[in-house]
Amino acid sequence: MPDKILTCQNCHNPFVYSEYEQKLDSKNSRPTPIYDTICASIKASGQKHPPKPKK
Ligand SMILES: [Zn+2]
Repeated sequence: MPDKILTCQNCHNPFVYSEYEQKLDSKNSRPTPIYDTICASIKASGQKHPPKPKK
């Protein structure tokens, strides 16, 4: 299973979904990530502290 290049659904930057991560996620029956690590952490913290909506 080779490394995959995925596109972040938030910032649309490509990121590597490594063979190791693919194996780990399939082992834990987790879905393929849609965000890179940076945006995933922003989204995770954003859910706890939602930003004020822009006008
Ligand atoms: Zn991103």
